[in-house]
Amino acid sequence: MSSLISELNPEQFEAVTLPHQSALVLAGAGSGKTRVLTTRIAYLIQSGQVSPHGILAVTFTNKAAKEMLIRIASMLPIDTRGMWVGTFHGLCNRMLRAHHQDAGLPQAFQILDSADQLAVIKRLLKVLDADDEKFPPRQVQWFINNAKEEGLRASQVEIYDDFARKMVEFYLFYEQQCNKEGVVDFAELLLRSYELLTRNEHLREHYRGRFDHILVDEFQDTNRLQYKWLKLLAGNRAAVFAVGDDDQSIYAFRGANTGNMKDFERDFHISKIIKLEQNYRSHGNILDAANTLIRNNSGRLGKNLWTSEGHGEPIRVYNAPTDFDEASFIVDEVKSLRAEGVVLSQIALLYRSNAQSRVLEHALFNASLAYRVYGGMRFFERQEIKHALAYLRLMANPEDDNALLRIINFPVRGIGMRSLEQLQDEAKRQGGSLWAAMQQKYGNDAAFIPNSGDQAPIRLESNQRLDKPRKGVEGFAVLIESMRQVCEKLPLPEAVEHMLEHSGLVAHYRAEREGADRLENLNELINAATGFVHEAEDDSLTAFLSHASLEAGEHQAGSGQDALQLMTVHSAKGLEFHSVFLSGLEEGLFPHDNSRNEAGGVEEERRLMYVALTRARRRLYLSFAQSRMLHGQTRYNIPSRFLHEIPDSLLKWLQPMQKATIRNEDWGRGRQGSGRVIQEPGVQARTSNIRDSTASQWRIGQNVMHAKFGAGVIVNCEGHGADARVEVRFGRIGTKWLLLEYAKLTPA
Ligand code: ATP
Ligand code: MG
Repeated sequence: MSSLISELNPEQFEAVTLPHQSALVLAGAGSGKTRVLTTRIAYLIQSGQVSPHGILAVTFTNKAAKEMLIRIASMLPIDTRGMWVGTFHGLCNRMLRAHHQDAGLPQAFQILDSADQLAVIKRLLKVLDADDEKFPPRQVQWFINNAKEEGLRASQVEIYDDFARKMVEFYLFYEQQCNKEGVVDFAELLLRSYELLTRNEHLREHYRGRFDHILVDEFQDTNRLQYKWLKLLAGNRAAVFAVGDDDQSIYAFRGANTGNMKDFERDFHISKIIKLEQNYRSHGNILDAANTLIRNNSGRLGKNLWTSEGHGEPIRVYNAPTDFDEASFIVDEVKSLRAEGVVLSQIALLYRSNAQSRVLEHALFNASLAYRVYGGMRFFERQEIKHALAYLRLMANPEDDNALLRIINFPVRGIGMRSLEQLQDEAKRQGGSLWAAMQQKYGNDAAFIPNSGDQAPIRLESNQRLDKPRKGVEGFAVLIESMRQVCEKLPLPEAVEHMLEHSGLVAHYRAEREGADRLENLNELINAATGFVHEAEDDSLTAFLSHASLEAGEHQAGSGQDALQLMTVHSAKGLEFHSVFLSGLEEGLFPHDNSRNEAGGVEEERRLMYVALTRARRRLYLSFAQSRMLHGQTRYNIPSRFLHEIPDSLLKWLQPMQKATIRNEDWGRGRQGSGRVIQEPGVQARTSNIRDSTASQWRIGQNVMHAKFGAGVIVNCEGHGADARVEVRFGRIGTKWLLLEYAKLTPA
């Protein structure tokens, strides 16, 4: 016991050893919140106050949940596998699986990730003949998820105009379709579990009786429904221990609500908020940079962080002419860090947007540096893996239309749009699934195997007399059914292997010119299944499929190997590294374009920046590129305002300085007129970045007039010739991209 708590400071000690009562720990990055939470779990168990069974702990990412379990296991000699420690989604999934009947779900219900969900929505909009310009599928998706996160079913959404009426109609249709297919999306996991507990008193009391202690990490990022779920589960009995940091709230755009903190204080009668002020993670310069930056935000709850460590090294800043140059700079520095003895897994490359990783990956690959990408294109989201999972899903649940549509003609088996439409019409007529429609349409044919499960698989040759589409559809049905029968009897990894071979996926990718990577990923899927069987309590196909929807699949791809860690800043939340490279510090990228027109948008980006800076323990690199290829276009950039919010005295510029020509007052709350260097001798002047004649008269920072929008200032330029565009911040209407050829700008 004493070893558990001997290293804690007095405030941490107080938090860890609190009696059975709800509490809120509000503290800055690196102050030990997660450590306190984990230690409290171990302490409660070890001191006999609760059994592992009576604890529920929620964290934000699977990686964090896994780390929490590892930490607990290292402190206590217990088997942590049965413990309710996980993400909101993971825990709700677990609850719904255990009570699927009460929740109105089939036992093998499948989980749609957001790409699957979008595919379903697109399909439904087509069926409804909706105008997708007027009702973009993504907007419909956002509407549905947003409603769910507020706890609202389609029938409960308030209709205030015709547009909303349409949206609600889509939502309703989507709800019906998901119920029919037995699939749930991410938001549904939570809403359904919430409804289950609300409706079913018996279950509610069961769980309330079970969980004595509920612990929540990253509390600032819980949304409304998550909070309500916690409250419902806690009832009057459980002690809820929440830790968070308002300065790290980075999901406001997805409904996370720091207002939950206020409600929590009230609802759970929190008399005293515990604050932790000592930072154990970072050296002084890094901490000072983060503290100074975040002071530019308004409405903070306000905290002070200090460290007993020294200042450490200055923060290194690099101004790259291009994104390629930035990447090669990073590669060189990583090599020298490695030469100094820093292991690769202790070095993180962070970026604001996933699209930035491509150039970095390319450079790392060429330099033969091992790396692993977290988040982003998650393993389970890769096209070939999605196809493979669709086969498995259909085998587990033939009602899953989405899975069926994905693979009915992949690999190609001669099933055209017409046959598919016929099937869809048939399904619509019957009000059932496509699989059922297939049975109905072809079921009388002797060659078709009904979905009975106890017949021997029939060989495809028997269908050869049929016409092509018919043969295709029937062949497909026979294939799924026969694979299902075989796989039922095989251990999971062998079942996956069997499916890969017999579905034709392996043959398909083998024949593809660039299929080698995809084949390798398919192989990884077998490894993933093997790993899953070793780790999980429930090693059924259904459990594996939920795992695939909920997990980022990060343990795949060379898991044992020491590798650099690449991820977005969002995914880096809660983590720490010896060295951190934060790349792409450019206006428009970080802060992100989208944030600039939204109320509170830049403040949220600043919190994200605070998260990024505070991931570093010892060394921090900040870099930006004057030009960058993104989404197929070259963008010309000015450095992020956030760079200018960090005191000069903490920075070390890795190249000679020159006076900058950008007007700093255009950068919002940035420090005024610092004249920071952004220029490297010999590199083309940043203020005349566009090199062709159409655009050369314009430069970033220039004041302009537009006939309709009035006066503005150029903040970004990109493209060449007829494509040359500038982004102008207008006093009246905010920022706008304009094609130079048409914009008729005049210098002001
Ligand atoms: P974040 O806000 O980024 O999630 P956090 O507040 O959760 O940060 P932790 O990750 O728990 O912080 O702790 C940061 C680091 O400080 C960890 O390496 C942790 O082990 C270490 N640490 C925390 N408390 C102490 C302590 N009392 N003595 C030594 N090290 C500590
Ligand atoms: Mg933490």
